[in-house]
Amino acid sequence: MRTAIYPGSFDPLTNGHLDVIERAAKLFDRVVVAIAINESKNPLFSLAERRELVSRSVEHLKNVEADTFTSLLVDYVEQRSGQAIIRGLRAVSDFEFEFQLALMNRKLNERVETIFMVPKDTYTFLSSRIVKEIARLGGDVGAFVPPHVKEALKKKLSKAR
Ligand code: ADP
Repeated sequence: MRTAIYPGSFDPLTNGHLDVIERAAKLFDRVVVAIAINESKNPLFSLAERRELVSRSVEHLKNVEADTFTSLLVDYVEQRSGQAIIRGLRAVSDFEFEFQLALMNRKLNERVETIFMVPKDTYTFLSSRIVKEIARLGGDVGAFVPPHVKEALKKKLSKAR
């Protein structure tokens, strides 16, 4: 059983994340989308809300599940009997940080491999941060996130006003 862990903030999940998840689901027996607390990023959605948004987005993928984690990533990978960490690479700008993270995780646990996946070209400009910014300013994010994420953004931001 080959298990990959796809960690991130997913605040909220975008079509770019989903594209990476769908690609990973074809390569691995099981993919766990692992949502990190990431309080330092001051998330818009709570951990439980982000998990629910991810769960609904992956309902059509039988070998994908959503989970949350608060521990060190490599420890979480071991705990879930995973072999690999999936990370998405959008542009050269992602590379430096991701490279550092991958080597650090290898130092912490040599058995865990990091695999980089490239999304469909139309999603390379997408980030949760930009989606939130557009939604906050009243723009239509329908092309960038699943419909239920668009609704959740609308609800959350109308409350915040
Ligand atoms: P983090 O805070 O860990 O960067 P994110 O939720 O922003 O969490 O991203 C999780 C992972 O998904 C990262 O590897 C990031 O590079 C990747 N990712 C984010 N947006 C996209 C996208 N549009 N296409 C492909 N990968 C993406």
